[in-house]
Amino acid sequence: MTEENKPTTTNVMPAEGSDWPKLKTEMLSRGQNDAKWREGKTAVYVFNAGEDVAQVQKEAYTMYMSENGLGPAAFPSLKEMEDEVIAMALSLLHGSTDAGGSITSGGTDSITMAVKTARDYARSEKNLTGKANIVLPYSAHPAFDKAAMMMDLELRKIAVKSDLSADVVAMSDAIDNNTIMLVGSAPNFPYGLIDPISELGKVAEEKEVWLHVDACVGGYIAPFVRMNGADIPDFDFSVPGVSSMSADLHKYGYCAKGASTVLFRNKVLKQYMVFDCDDWPGGRMVTPTLAGTRPGGAISAAWAVMNFLGIKGYREKHKLVTDARETIEAGVKALGFNILGEPQLGIVAFSHDSLNVFAIYKQMFKRGWFTSLTSEPKALHLMLSPFHASVTDIYLSDLKSSVEQVKSGDTDAVTESRYS
Ligand SMILES: *Cc1c(COP(=O)(O)O)cnc(C)c1O
Repeated sequence: MTEENKPTTTNVMPAEGSDWPKLKTEMLSRGQNDAKWREGKTAVYVFNAGEDVAQVQKEAYTMYMSENGLGPAAFPSLKEMEDEVIAMALSLLHGSTDAGGSITSGGTDSITMAVKTARDYARSEKNLTGKANIVLPYSAHPAFDKAAMMMDLELRKIAVKSDLSADVVAMSDAIDNNTIMLVGSAPNFPYGLIDPISELGKVAEEKEVWLHVDACVGGYIAPFVRMNGADIPDFDFSVPGVSSMSADLHKYGYCAKGASTVLFRNKVLKQYMVFDCDDWPGGRMVTPTLAGTRPGGAISAAWAVMNFLGIKGYREKHKLVTDARETIEAGVKALGFNILGEPQLGIVAFSHDSLNVFAIYKQMFKRGWFTSLTSEPKALHLMLSPFHASVTDIYLSDLKSSVEQVKSGDTDAVTESRYS
């Protein structure tokens, strides 16, 4: 960062306010050193579905920015939009007419609510004696670790098979009377691979255990990629053993951030999520999720983007994603990389037999790319957006020169794969 564009930082509240134009200029300048996602050089944290979607997100968000989803009686508009978003989600994910769900603030929130619901269901319906546990593949998202920490649950993480998918037999063996949930991902984040959900569903039915499908990063892309002709295995409520799902609107739903969905097979299960407290001088408070105040903008923007794109729009946007992934797969194979598994959606990871990918990552970073890594096995990792279809050439030529740099003996490398 040069002295010139260094932001003026302050640690006390200014005695007097500033003009908005001045603040706006300052905020723009603070963004100068951020990842260059608008140029397509970022493949983590953000989704770039194009200017048309961005405009709808922005305008639809600000229209209901001040309204509060905590008060459906005051804002029937938000209640209607949330109900319609959930209905659209369930129609995509094969929920029956008895299925239900809620909008949450994000994937971690959806997963936490699903875990809480499964726990309360187990407390009510099963004789939990010891500490409750969750059986999940090692590749499942750390949101489950976070939920387990908050609710004092044991996590039984089961190593994935050599093909990097969930080991159903080992997971089945790990289940006991205190297991409140079995988890499969569709897909998992590290490899972008869909776990064998049908097989997990059979175990869930046999052993009468709640199966949660974490489709945070797949729920709003997999149905459309299937419509586009890909052979996507069953991963949703079409599998009878699935009790709940998480699917993030703010990922491949291309909605504004702060929006995910948590979905339940039926209304009886969903009831265990609801908080109902009548022990407060303010009166009775009933909320579906963890939040009190619920940002109206996140709900209205989700409703608007889904209706703006429709099935046709999502199919087109996602076709750009899978085309980009296929182009990149072919290009990286030609450079000597190995694709981890056979990804079908928007995430792809690739390792190299002889080169240090953490050094290649550093070279790509120096060329302006902000992407990610997996640690086991060490691999480069991309979460692609529609916009990436227009920059695959630049990515592959930068990757080629990065590979050459590392081959020529440049050992400068990042030390770890880290999200923080
Ligand atoms: C992103 C993601 C999550 C967590 O979602 P947040 O919105 O970041 O809280 C959970 N599971 C998977 C598979 C994800 O990709």
